[in-house]
Amino acid sequence: MDTDIDDDTVRRAPATGPRAYRALATEAVHAGRDDLAGLGLHAPPIDLSTTYPSYDSRGEAARIDAFAADGTEPSGTPVYGRLGNPTVARFETALARLEGTESAVAFASGMAALTAVLLVRNSVGLRHVVAVRPLYGCSDHLLSAGLLGSEVTWTDPAGIADALRPDTGLVLVESPANPTLAEIDLRAVAHDCGSVPLLADNTFATPVLQRPAESGARLVLHSATKYLGGHGDVLGGVVACDEEFGRRLRQVRFATGGVLHPLAGYLLLRGLATLPVRVRAASATAAELACRLAADPRVARVHYPRLGGAMVAFEVRDDPHEVIAGVRLITPAVSLGSVDTLIQHPASISHRIVAAEDRRSCGVSDRLLRLSVGLEDVDDLWHDLDHALDGARGA
Ligand SMILES: *Cc1c(COP(=O)(O)O)cnc(C)c1O
Repeated sequence: MDTDIDDDTVRRAPATGPRAYRALATEAVHAGRDDLAGLGLHAPPIDLSTTYPSYDSRGEAARIDAFAADGTEPSGTPVYGRLGNPTVARFETALARLEGTESAVAFASGMAALTAVLLVRNSVGLRHVVAVRPLYGCSDHLLSAGLLGSEVTWTDPAGIADALRPDTGLVLVESPANPTLAEIDLRAVAHDCGSVPLLADNTFATPVLQRPAESGARLVLHSATKYLGGHGDVLGGVVACDEEFGRRLRQVRFATGGVLHPLAGYLLLRGLATLPVRVRAASATAAELACRLAADPRVARVHYPRLGGAMVAFEVRDDPHEVIAGVRLITPAVSLGSVDTLIQHPASISHRIVAAEDRRSCGVSDRLLRLSVGLEDVDDLWHDLDHALDGARGA
């Protein structure tokens, strides 16, 4: 990991004055909450208002003009729920702190977040996107189907520089990628992008394992639905970036309406507090399961990132549908990043919407299963997997 500010860095605080940096684990529980003690609160308040009273309509006009001109967040009392919400803003502040960016802009889902990024670039005529497969199935589909008028060139990481054109507005990568866990050298790719913004989807690694902005990615995207929320009960998306791009994203969010609900903002902020603990614990279990799977004759191949993480992908020798049918403790379901372990068959579900030949050509084999490891005991999980693999053998 390329970073000089991480948990393991012990920075000696000067004898007086504050420490220069707070470690990630500390930020995770305190960022976005700095004002609470002053408000006399411990838990963050949930503001469900859709609108806000103001007797000063001249002042409102000026604030709306400022937002329309450059996306500056209205200061003072909020105006309207689609323009910004204080509970959501706490989550945005905290996520930006964890990713080491100036800003973060939250959306109703990961796909709403990616849509907003593409619209920002399309709006200035930069419709061409360079992307590396595999990507999350729906991200692939959004680009391939041209739903937003983007034109995509698919390439491998080494081909990015050659694929750039004058109208290229974005380079899009995932590392580790969904679902094969393929890894990309983000620093090298960021270098090859030159002045074209690099968007790194950091959903799988989370800022606990990797902070792409430190490697030169201008945009860091999360499906907050996954690890950030962490409990399978909230849909959300977020883009961590510099304030200039953040302003454009807020303008698009205001105009197109893909806002995060305040209750979701509350749950995501709450999820961040335990993110480092969850990711480390689940990653230790995932690493152990990856070892056991790699040594198992019923398994043809295991994909586990060098970076670590709580996702494991593996190719079975027998029928993958029978493995899915055979689990009892593990939940057979799409999505990932929850406290409980989930398994799914990408070729049938998460990547079904990608054309079969495109899927196969980027390593999403029909025998691949994707496991999102949760917080259960490793031996209980292994017992369940072992049983399901046996069932597939007998089928
Ligand atoms: C799930 C996912 C998305 C899409 O996020 P939603 O919150 O489901 O809209 C994007 N990227 C990756 C890597 C994902 O796993």
